[in-house]
Amino acid sequence: MNAQLIDGNAVAARVRAEVKAEVDRLKHEHGLTPGLAVVRVGEDPASKVYVSRKKQVAGEVGIQSWEHHPDEDITQDALLALVQQLNEDAAVHGILVQLPLPRHLDPDVIISAVKPEKDVDGFHPLNAGNLLLGRPTTRACTPHGVMRLLEEIGCEPAGKRAVVVGRSNIVGKPMALMLLQKNATVTLCHSKSDLRREVDGADILVVAVGVAELVKGAWLKPGAVVIDVGMNRTPDGKLVGDVEFAAAAERASFITPVPGGVGPMTIAMLMRNTLDAAVRYGRAPVVT
Ligand code: NDP
Repeated sequence: MNAQLIDGNAVAARVRAEVKAEVDRLKHEHGLTPGLAVVRVGEDPASKVYVSRKKQVAGEVGIQSWEHHPDEDITQDALLALVQQLNEDAAVHGILVQLPLPRHLDPDVIISAVKPEKDVDGFHPLNAGNLLLGRPTTRACTPHGVMRLLEEIGCEPAGKRAVVVGRSNIVGKPMALMLLQKNATVTLCHSKSDLRREVDGADILVVAVGVAELVKGAWLKPGAVVIDVGMNRTPDGKLVGDVEFAAAAERASFITPVPGGVGPMTIAMLMRNTLDAAVRYGRAPVVT
Protein backbone atom coordinates (compact mmCIF):
# COMPACT_ATOMS: atom_id res chain seq x y z
CA MET A 1 0.00 0.00 0.00
CA ASN A 2 1.43 3.37 -1.00
CA ALA A 3 -1.24 5.64 0.42
CA GLN A 4 -1.23 7.03 3.91
CA LEU A 5 -4.34 6.12 5.88
CA ILE A 6 -6.45 9.01 7.14
CA ASP A 7 -7.30 8.06 10.71
CA GLY A 8 -10.84 9.33 11.21
CA ASN A 9 -11.00 7.86 14.71
CA ALA A 10 -8.00 9.91 15.81
CA VAL A 11 -9.23 13.14 14.20
CA ALA A 12 -12.74 12.64 15.60
CA ALA A 13 -11.24 12.13 19.07
CA ARG A 14 -9.43 15.47 18.67
CA VAL A 15 -12.65 17.22 17.61
CA ARG A 16 -14.49 15.74 20.61
CA ALA A 17 -11.70 16.87 22.96
CA GLU A 18 -11.88 20.41 21.51
CA VAL A 19 -15.66 20.44 21.94
CA LYS A 20 -15.42 19.12 25.49
CA ALA A 21 -12.92 21.82 26.47
CA GLU A 22 -15.24 24.53 25.12
CA VAL A 23 -18.32 22.98 26.71
CA ASP A 24 -16.51 22.94 30.09
CA ARG A 25 -15.58 26.59 29.63
CA LEU A 26 -19.17 27.54 28.74
CA LYS A 27 -20.45 25.78 31.83
CA HIS A 28 -17.94 27.38 34.18
CA GLU A 29 -17.87 30.88 32.75
CA HIS A 30 -21.49 31.27 31.65
CA GLY A 31 -23.44 28.57 33.47
CA LEU A 32 -24.61 27.32 30.08
CA THR A 33 -24.90 23.63 29.21
CA PRO A 34 -25.41 22.93 25.50
CA GLY A 35 -28.48 20.75 24.93
CA LEU A 36 -29.31 18.40 22.06
CA ALA A 37 -32.77 16.93 21.51
CA VAL A 38 -32.93 13.88 19.28
CA VAL A 39 -36.22 12.72 17.81
CA ARG A 40 -36.37 9.08 16.74
CA VAL A 41 -39.68 7.98 15.28
CA GLY A 42 -40.52 4.28 15.36
CA GLU A 43 -38.24 1.28 15.43
CA ASP A 44 -35.80 1.57 12.51
CA PRO A 45 -32.93 -0.61 13.83
CA ALA A 46 -30.11 1.44 12.25
CA SER A 47 -31.60 4.67 13.64
CA LYS A 48 -31.65 3.12 17.10
CA VAL A 49 -27.92 2.40 16.89
CA TYR A 50 -27.07 5.87 15.50
CA VAL A 51 -29.15 7.70 18.10
CA SER A 52 -27.72 5.75 21.00
CA ARG A 53 -24.18 6.50 19.75
CA LYS A 54 -25.03 10.21 19.40
CA LYS A 55 -26.36 10.31 22.97
CA GLN A 56 -23.29 8.47 24.23
CA VAL A 57 -20.88 10.90 22.53
CA ALA A 58 -22.94 13.88 23.72
CA GLY A 59 -22.54 12.60 27.29
CA GLU A 60 -18.78 12.20 26.81
CA VAL A 61 -18.32 15.83 25.72
CA GLY A 62 -20.65 17.23 28.38
CA ILE A 63 -23.60 18.06 26.12
CA GLN A 64 -26.97 17.33 27.70
CA SER A 65 -29.17 15.21 25.45
CA TRP A 66 -32.76 14.05 25.39
CA GLU A 67 -34.27 11.38 23.21
CA HIS A 68 -37.89 11.74 22.11
CA HIS A 69 -39.19 8.49 20.79
CA PRO A 70 -42.70 8.74 19.36
CA ASP A 71 -44.43 5.64 18.00
CA GLU A 72 -44.16 4.65 14.35
CA ASP A 73 -47.78 5.77 13.71
CA ILE A 74 -47.42 9.34 15.03
CA THR A 75 -49.27 11.79 12.78
CA GLN A 76 -47.42 14.52 10.95
CA ASP A 77 -49.28 17.15 12.99
CA ALA A 78 -48.29 15.52 16.26
CA LEU A 79 -44.65 15.33 15.15
CA LEU A 80 -44.76 18.97 14.09
CA ALA A 81 -46.15 19.83 17.53
CA LEU A 82 -43.20 18.02 19.16
CA VAL A 83 -40.74 19.92 16.95
CA GLN A 84 -42.48 23.17 17.88
CA GLN A 85 -42.21 22.35 21.58
CA LEU A 86 -38.46 21.73 21.16
CA ASN A 87 -38.10 24.94 19.14
CA GLU A 88 -39.49 26.84 22.13
CA ASP A 89 -37.50 25.02 24.81
CA ALA A 90 -34.64 27.32 25.89
CA ALA A 91 -32.56 24.39 27.22
CA VAL A 92 -32.52 22.83 23.73
CA HIS A 93 -29.91 24.39 21.44
CA GLY A 94 -29.85 21.64 18.83
CA ILE A 95 -32.65 19.52 17.37
CA LEU A 96 -31.99 16.46 15.29
CA VAL A 97 -34.76 14.49 13.66
CA GLN A 98 -33.25 11.11 12.82
CA LEU A 99 -33.89 10.05 9.23
CA PRO A 100 -35.38 8.05 7.61
CA LEU A 101 -38.89 8.76 8.85
CA PRO A 102 -41.80 6.35 8.34
CA ARG A 103 -43.30 6.71 4.86
CA HIS A 104 -46.44 8.65 5.91
CA LEU A 105 -44.29 11.51 7.24
CA ASP A 106 -42.77 14.09 4.89
CA PRO A 107 -39.14 14.68 5.93
CA ASP A 108 -39.00 18.00 4.04
CA VAL A 109 -41.93 19.37 6.03
CA ILE A 110 -40.54 18.16 9.34
CA ILE A 111 -36.97 19.40 8.71
CA SER A 112 -38.30 22.77 7.55
CA ALA A 113 -40.25 23.09 10.83
CA VAL A 114 -37.06 22.96 12.93
CA LYS A 115 -35.89 26.46 13.87
CA PRO A 116 -32.93 27.11 11.53
CA GLU A 117 -30.72 28.17 14.45
CA LYS A 118 -31.39 24.80 16.16
CA ASP A 119 -30.91 22.74 12.99
CA VAL A 120 -27.62 21.09 13.96
CA ASP A 121 -27.81 18.72 10.97
CA GLY A 122 -27.58 21.68 8.58
CA PHE A 123 -30.49 20.28 6.52
CA HIS A 124 -32.95 23.19 6.90
CA PRO A 125 -33.49 25.01 3.58
CA LEU A 126 -32.22 28.26 5.11
CA ASN A 127 -28.95 26.67 6.21
CA ALA A 128 -28.57 24.77 2.92
CA GLY A 129 -29.30 28.02 1.06
CA ASN A 130 -26.74 29.97 3.10
CA LEU A 131 -24.14 27.37 2.18
CA LEU A 132 -25.03 27.83 -1.48
CA LEU A 133 -24.63 31.59 -1.10
CA GLY A 134 -21.26 31.16 0.61
CA ARG A 135 -22.50 32.66 3.88
CA PRO A 136 -21.61 31.41 7.36
CA THR A 137 -24.09 28.73 8.38
CA THR A 138 -24.55 25.41 10.13
CA ARG A 139 -22.92 22.84 7.88
CA ALA A 140 -24.12 19.30 7.25
CA CYS A 141 -22.08 17.08 9.57
CA THR A 142 -20.62 14.53 7.14
CA PRO A 143 -19.16 16.93 4.54
CA HIS A 144 -18.12 19.25 7.37
CA GLY A 145 -16.19 16.29 8.81
CA VAL A 146 -14.61 15.58 5.42
CA MET A 147 -13.35 19.17 5.22
CA ARG A 148 -11.75 18.73 8.64
CA LEU A 149 -10.05 15.50 7.49
CA LEU A 150 -8.60 17.33 4.46
CA GLU A 151 -7.35 20.09 6.72
CA GLU A 152 -5.72 17.57 9.07
CA ILE A 153 -3.67 16.00 6.27
CA GLY A 154 -2.67 19.43 4.97
CA CYS A 155 -4.66 19.08 1.75
CA GLU A 156 -5.42 22.58 0.50
CA PRO A 157 -8.31 22.40 -2.04
CA ALA A 158 -7.55 25.76 -3.72
CA GLY A 159 -6.74 25.23 -7.38
CA LYS A 160 -7.18 21.46 -7.17
CA ARG A 161 -9.58 19.40 -9.18
CA ALA A 162 -12.16 17.92 -6.80
CA VAL A 163 -14.61 15.27 -7.92
CA VAL A 164 -17.60 14.40 -5.73
CA VAL A 165 -19.57 11.27 -6.59
CA GLY A 166 -23.17 11.33 -5.28
CA ARG A 167 -25.48 14.36 -5.19
CA SER A 168 -27.63 13.76 -2.12
CA ASN A 169 -28.75 16.79 -0.13
CA ILE A 170 -27.07 15.46 2.98
CA VAL A 171 -23.63 14.57 1.60
CA GLY A 172 -22.81 15.10 -2.09
CA LYS A 173 -24.28 18.55 -2.76
CA PRO A 174 -23.07 20.25 0.44
CA MET A 175 -19.69 18.52 -0.06
CA ALA A 176 -19.34 20.03 -3.53
CA LEU A 177 -20.27 23.49 -2.20
CA MET A 178 -17.80 23.31 0.68
CA LEU A 179 -14.99 22.34 -1.70
CA LEU A 180 -16.02 25.13 -4.06
CA GLN A 181 -15.95 27.59 -1.19
CA LYS A 182 -12.35 26.50 -0.60
CA ASN A 183 -11.61 27.28 -4.26
CA ALA A 184 -11.36 23.78 -5.67
CA THR A 185 -12.61 23.26 -9.23
CA VAL A 186 -15.49 20.94 -8.53
CA THR A 187 -17.25 18.26 -10.58
CA LEU A 188 -20.38 16.73 -9.06
CA CYS A 189 -21.22 13.26 -10.39
CA HIS A 190 -24.33 11.11 -10.13
CA SER A 191 -25.88 7.99 -11.59
CA LYS A 192 -25.89 9.36 -15.15
CA SER A 193 -22.23 10.43 -15.13
CA ASP A 194 -19.44 8.68 -16.96
CA LEU A 195 -17.66 7.99 -13.70
CA ARG A 196 -14.47 6.58 -15.07
CA ARG A 197 -13.90 9.67 -17.19
CA GLU A 198 -14.71 12.11 -14.39
CA VAL A 199 -12.71 10.34 -11.68
CA ASP A 200 -9.63 10.30 -13.89
CA GLY A 201 -7.70 13.46 -13.09
CA ALA A 202 -9.29 14.13 -9.70
CA ASP A 203 -6.79 15.48 -7.19
CA ILE A 204 -9.41 15.10 -4.45
CA LEU A 205 -12.06 12.42 -4.79
CA VAL A 206 -15.03 12.15 -2.43
CA VAL A 207 -17.39 9.23 -3.00
CA ALA A 208 -20.83 9.06 -1.33
CA VAL A 209 -23.00 6.64 -3.28
CA GLY A 210 -23.83 3.51 -1.30
CA VAL A 211 -22.60 0.91 -3.81
CA ALA A 212 -19.81 -1.34 -2.56
CA GLU A 213 -16.48 -0.72 -4.35
CA LEU A 214 -18.12 1.13 -7.23
CA VAL A 215 -15.06 3.29 -7.91
CA LYS A 216 -12.12 1.23 -9.11
CA GLY A 217 -8.58 1.86 -7.96
CA ALA A 218 -7.31 1.80 -11.55
CA TRP A 219 -9.42 4.90 -12.38
CA LEU A 220 -7.54 7.12 -9.93
CA LYS A 221 -4.96 9.71 -10.76
CA PRO A 222 -1.75 8.66 -9.00
CA GLY A 223 -1.39 10.71 -5.82
CA ALA A 224 -5.10 11.48 -5.45
CA VAL A 225 -6.59 12.10 -2.01
CA VAL A 226 -9.47 9.67 -1.63
CA ILE A 227 -12.32 10.14 0.84
CA ASP A 228 -14.77 7.27 0.96
CA VAL A 229 -18.06 8.16 2.65
CA GLY A 230 -19.85 4.96 1.64
CA MET A 231 -20.83 2.32 4.15
CA ASN A 232 -21.99 -0.95 2.66
CA ARG A 233 -22.54 -4.29 4.33
CA THR A 234 -21.27 -7.25 2.24
CA PRO A 235 -23.14 -10.61 2.27
CA ASP A 236 -20.52 -11.97 4.68
CA GLY A 237 -21.18 -9.08 7.09
CA LYS A 238 -18.09 -6.95 6.35
CA LEU A 239 -18.37 -3.17 6.14
CA VAL A 240 -16.88 -1.78 2.92
CA GLY A 241 -16.82 1.60 1.24
CA ASP A 242 -17.75 2.83 -2.25
CA VAL A 243 -14.11 2.68 -3.39
CA GLU A 244 -12.18 -0.48 -4.21
CA PHE A 245 -9.89 0.02 -1.25
CA ALA A 246 -6.89 -2.24 -1.86
CA ALA A 247 -6.32 -1.12 -5.46
CA ALA A 248 -7.06 2.53 -4.64
CA ALA A 249 -4.54 2.48 -1.79
CA GLU A 250 -1.84 1.55 -4.33
CA ARG A 251 -2.40 4.75 -6.33
CA ALA A 252 -3.68 7.32 -3.83
CA SER A 253 -1.50 9.51 -1.63
CA PHE A 254 -4.06 9.51 1.20
CA ILE A 255 -7.16 7.38 1.68
CA THR A 256 -9.83 6.95 4.35
CA PRO A 257 -10.47 3.40 5.56
CA VAL A 258 -14.01 2.06 5.98
CA PRO A 259 -14.76 1.78 8.84
CA GLY A 260 -12.68 4.30 10.79
CA GLY A 261 -12.53 7.10 8.20
CA VAL A 262 -15.45 9.46 7.65
CA GLY A 263 -17.90 7.60 9.93
CA PRO A 264 -16.58 8.80 13.31
CA MET A 265 -16.31 12.38 11.99
CA THR A 266 -20.04 12.74 11.41
CA ILE A 267 -20.99 12.47 15.09
CA ALA A 268 -18.01 14.56 16.18
CA MET A 269 -19.15 17.39 13.87
CA LEU A 270 -22.71 17.07 15.22
CA MET A 271 -21.26 17.84 18.66
CA ARG A 272 -19.35 20.79 17.18
CA ASN A 273 -22.56 22.10 15.56
CA THR A 274 -24.51 21.73 18.82
CA LEU A 275 -21.84 23.60 20.75
CA ASP A 276 -21.76 26.35 18.13
CA ALA A 277 -25.57 26.65 18.27
CA ALA A 278 -25.43 27.00 22.05
CA VAL A 279 -22.71 29.65 21.83
CA ARG A 280 -24.59 31.63 19.20
CA TYR A 281 -28.10 31.40 20.52
CA GLY A 282 -27.88 30.06 24.08
CA ARG A 283 -28.81 32.34 26.90
CA ALA A 284 -26.79 32.01 30.09
CA PRO A 285 -29.04 32.06 33.14
CA VAL A 286 -29.17 35.50 34.77
CA VAL A 287 -27.28 35.47 38.06
CA THR A 288 -29.01 37.64 40.68
P1 NDP B 1 -28.26 8.68 -1.46
O1 NDP B 1 -28.81 7.34 -1.76
O2 NDP B 1 -29.15 9.74 -0.94
O3 NDP B 1 -27.52 9.25 -2.75
C1 NDP B 1 -26.70 8.43 -3.53
C2 NDP B 1 -26.14 9.22 -4.67
O4 NDP B 1 -25.30 8.34 -5.41
C3 NDP B 1 -27.19 9.76 -5.64
O5 NDP B 1 -26.89 11.08 -5.98
C4 NDP B 1 -27.07 8.83 -6.85
O6 NDP B 1 -27.29 9.47 -8.10
C5 NDP B 1 -25.61 8.45 -6.78
N1 NDP B 1 -25.38 7.17 -7.48
C6 NDP B 1 -26.06 6.01 -7.35
N2 NDP B 1 -25.54 5.08 -8.14
C7 NDP B 1 -24.53 5.65 -8.80
C8 NDP B 1 -23.62 5.20 -9.79
N3 NDP B 1 -23.63 3.96 -10.25
N4 NDP B 1 -22.69 6.07 -10.24
C9 NDP B 1 -22.65 7.33 -9.77
N5 NDP B 1 -23.48 7.81 -8.84
C10 NDP B 1 -24.41 6.98 -8.37
O7 NDP B 1 -27.05 8.39 -0.45
P2 NDP B 1 -26.37 9.27 0.72
O8 NDP B 1 -25.69 10.46 0.16
O9 NDP B 1 -27.31 9.42 1.84
O10 NDP B 1 -25.26 8.22 1.21
C11 NDP B 1 -24.27 7.73 0.35
C12 NDP B 1 -23.41 6.72 1.09
O11 NDP B 1 -22.76 7.36 2.17
C13 NDP B 1 -24.17 5.54 1.71
O12 NDP B 1 -23.34 4.39 1.67
C14 NDP B 1 -24.37 5.96 3.12
O13 NDP B 1 -24.49 4.86 4.00
C15 NDP B 1 -23.08 6.69 3.39
N6 NDP B 1 -23.16 7.70 4.43
C16 NDP B 1 -22.19 7.67 5.39
C17 NDP B 1 -22.18 8.61 6.38
C18 NDP B 1 -21.09 8.56 7.36
O14 NDP B 1 -21.20 9.16 8.40
N7 NDP B 1 -19.98 7.88 7.06
C19 NDP B 1 -23.21 9.64 6.50
C20 NDP B 1 -24.15 9.63 5.39
C21 NDP B 1 -24.12 8.69 4.41
P3 NDP B 1 -28.73 10.04 -8.58
O15 NDP B 1 -28.91 11.32 -7.82
O16 NDP B 1 -28.55 10.24 -10.03
O17 NDP B 1 -29.74 9.00 -8.19
